[in-house]
Amino acid sequence: MSYDKVEVPEDGEAITLADEETGELDVPENPIIPIIHGDGIGTDVGPAAQQVLDAAAEATGRSIAWMRVYAGASARDKYGENLPEDTVSAIREHRVAIKGPLTTPVGSGFRSLNVALRKTLDAYANVRPTYYLDGVPSPVKAPEKMDMVIFRENTEDVYAGIEWEAGTDEVETVRAFVEDEMGVDDVIHDGPVGIGIKPITEFGSKRLIREAFDYALENDRDSVTLVHKGNIMKFTEAAFRDWGYELAEEEYGDELITEDELWDEHDGDQPEGTVVVKDRIADNMLQQVLTRTDEYDVIATMNLNGDYFSDAAGAQIGGLGIAPGINRGHGRALAEPVHGSAPKYAGEDKVNPTAMILSGREMLDYLGWKDAADLVRDAVEETISSGKVTYDLHRQIDGGEKLATSEFADAIVENIEKLS
Ligand code: NAD
Repeated sequence: MSYDKVEVPEDGEAITLADEETGELDVPENPIIPIIHGDGIGTDVGPAAQQVLDAAAEATGRSIAWMRVYAGASARDKYGENLPEDTVSAIREHRVAIKGPLTTPVGSGFRSLNVALRKTLDAYANVRPTYYLDGVPSPVKAPEKMDMVIFRENTEDVYAGIEWEAGTDEVETVRAFVEDEMGVDDVIHDGPVGIGIKPITEFGSKRLIREAFDYALENDRDSVTLVHKGNIMKFTEAAFRDWGYELAEEEYGDELITEDELWDEHDGDQPEGTVVVKDRIADNMLQQVLTRTDEYDVIATMNLNGDYFSDAAGAQIGGLGIAPGINRGHGRALAEPVHGSAPKYAGEDKVNPTAMILSGREMLDYLGWKDAADLVRDAVEETISSGKVTYDLHRQIDGGEKLATSEFADAIVENIEKLS
C-alpha cells in the first residue's frame, strides 16, 4: 500500500495474519510498527518509550522499524486534519501499533479520536494489566498483592454512543415509543429528558470473555471473574454473566471450572492447569479489590464497569503515571497508556513515561516477544526501586533521585543493557 501522509520505513517488514480463524500473527524479526506520539505530554513520553522499546528489541536480537503516523494536534499542524485516513489505513495494514494520549475537547468539537481509532480497528478488548512494581509509592498497605489483568469490553454498553439530547424531536420519539408501544408507565419523569441505550450482545460479550479465558489459560492464571451488575440490570449485565458461563461450557471443557465445582468436586483444591470462573457484583467487587486483593486475577467486564474498576485498581499500584493498556481485536492491537495528554506539563521533559513504556511492553508481549517484554518490566522495576524516578513519584518517597523524562528513559536503557 502507498501513502501520501505516512513515510514507510525501508528497513522493516510488515506483520501479517498467519491464521484467519485464531487471529494469530506472523511477526518478522524487524516489524514495521506505526507509532503516534500523541498530544500534550505525548511529545515527551512517546520518544522515551520508543528509546526503551528499541533497546529491548536490540538486546533480544531484533529491531523495530518505526513508522511515525499522525493524529490530533500533530496531524492538524502537518496536514490540517485531526485523523488522516492514511494514519488509520497504516495502522490497519500493519496490525500492531502504539499511541500516546490524544486530547478530546469536552462536550463540543470533534468526537474522541481515541474512540474513533479503537472503533476502526474493531479493538474490542481494552486490556489493562494492573501489577505492582517494587518501589512505587501506593496509598494502600500491601500493594504487592495486586496482580490483575482487566479485560474491558470496548464497543458496547452505554458507551456505544446511542443517545438523544433533551428537547430534541428524536428523544421525544424514543420516549413515546417506550411509553406507548412498550407500555413503560410512570418511570420517565415529565419534562426534559436525555435518553441513552445500553446494548449488550451475546456476540460482543462472548468475544471479550473468550479473550480473557484464553489469556488466563495461556498465562497460567488461577481465575477469571465476570464483574456485572446483573442483580439490577437483568437483561444486559446478567446476560453478560450468563453468556460467560455458557461460553466456558461450550468451548472449554474441563480446563475451566466454576467456583461451585471447585468446592463440590475438588474440596477447594484447584486442579493443575485449570482456571476457575467466578462472578461478582460490581459494587461488591470495588470493595473486594481493596480488602481481598489477591483473590482476583483476570477480570472480564463491560465497558462502564471496566472504566471505573480499572482506574480504581490502578490507583492501588501507583496511579496514572504507571498504568499501561492495550486495545486488542482479532489479530490487531493498539497499545496506549491509560493517562491523558496532561497539557500543562507538555514539552517540559518532566512527566513519567512508565505508563507508555509498559504499554509498549504489552505490545511486545502481543508480538510474542516475551523475553523482550520481561526485560522491559524488569528494567523499569530496577530503575524505580533504586530510587531513580520522575517528579510525580519523587514527591511521594523519601530520598531518591528526581530525573527528567529523558533521563529516566536513559536509566531504564542502562538497566536493559545490564540485565540482558
Ligand atoms: P490526564 O491523564 O491528562 O491528566 C490528569 C493528571 O494526571 C495530570 O494533570 C497529571 O498531574 C497526572 N498525570 C497524567 N499522566 C501523567 C504522567 N505520565 N506522569 C505524571 N503525571 C501524570 O487527564 P485529564 O486532565 O482528564 O485529560 C487531559 C486530556 O487528555 C483530555 O483532553 C482528555 O480527553 C485526554 N485523555 C486522553 C486519553 C487517551 O488518549 N487515551 C485518556 C484520558 C484522557
